Amino acid sequence: MHELSICSSIVGIVKKHAAGREVRTVHVRIGAMRQIVPDTLTYCWSLVTESSELAGAELAIERIPAKIRCTSCGREQVLDELAMACQECTGSVDLVEGDEFMITSLDLAEV
Ligand SMILES: [Zn+2]
Repeated sequence: MHELSICSSIVGIVKKHAAGREVRTVHVRIGAMRQIVPDTLTYCWSLVTESSELAGAELAIERIPAKIRCTSCGREQVLDELAMACQECTGSVDLVEGDEFMITSLDLAEV
């Protein structure tokens, strides 16, 4: 289950940035092409954090749909699943968005 290792690495990054401050919410952005199940990620997050200083911190997941651009006609399309051909002209496509995985921000408790 790679969600578990993802959560472990998020915890490592968040701890470093929080530097001992209380974390309320961790905002992450995940592209649709990452094959990550948000519910599984949320579950793994609670497993990984429950015995750490991040216990109680919420994981806020923003999903980014896949966006492709046709190499022939330039048409951009937003999809839930990656298509291998342009729906307009059947030309081949490049993935433009949908492969991202990043921590976008942390909400810290007021000091
Ligand atoms: Zn096309």
